[in-house]
Amino acid sequence: MRLIVLHYHRVTHGPVMGGGWVVPAQFAFHLRQLEKWGFVPAEPREVLAPASGRSFVLTFDDAYTDIYRNALPGMTKRGIKGIVFPVAGFMGKKPLWDVTWGTPGIHMDEGELRSLAALGWEIGSHTMTHPDLTRLSPEKLMTELTDSKKLLEDKISERVRFVAYPFGRFNQRVKDAAREAGYEAGFTMRRKKSLAWTDPMEIPRMSVYLPDYSLFRKMEPMYARADCLIERLINMNSGGTAWVRHAMPWLGKILGMRVELE
Ligand SMILES: [Zn+2]
Repeated sequence: MRLIVLHYHRVTHGPVMGGGWVVPAQFAFHLRQLEKWGFVPAEPREVLAPASGRSFVLTFDDAYTDIYRNALPGMTKRGIKGIVFPVAGFMGKKPLWDVTWGTPGIHMDEGELRSLAALGWEIGSHTMTHPDLTRLSPEKLMTELTDSKKLLEDKISERVRFVAYPFGRFNQRVKDAAREAGYEAGFTMRRKKSLAWTDPMEIPRMSVYLPDYSLFRKMEPMYARADCLIERLINMNSGGTAWVRHAMPWLGKILGMRVELE
């Protein structure tokens, strides 16, 4: 039994700072590879009780509109439904938590999210404002988790069961709070040697980024160590850009990045 959960951010022609994206042709190639290797698409909710056999689930953090444009058509053609994690306070808006450079991203609006839900996609939460949850007070932590769940449920009229921790940052306190807020599963950006999980609030995912032209390296245990390192570097970069935004907006300006602050 093997279910793999892949984690994407943007599918765009780019460029986007930091490599946290894949180009549409690359994404289409990944779908063909999964098919060729005999992986079958699982229903999004099967993450909680994987069926036997080799299956996969695709997840997309931040719910950028380029997923709607560049990933959805190829997936629908193959009968693949994904899980998308919108930041509830940013539907239809530009992100404010990250430094952007290159092709600007826009988040899906309610209508786009509703049409994904109608196609059988699972809409999860990526909190209200995309903070590092491990750094919040207990009250603020609960607000991020419960308000986003409620807002998304109101907008799409579906139950929101899953949460993806922003920047992949979580700890026991965050997991407990997510469970208390009513989530059934929490998605990390952590890659484990085995993708089997024991704690549903800590579901491991393989992050797929620009250097992964082929998924071969991801699937080969021989390359797992090198691959974990690449993922960690890019994931760290996404945390790093958040740090630039909060601590050093002037550095962002010098580097020619567009830095937006509330
Ligand atoms: Zn995110």
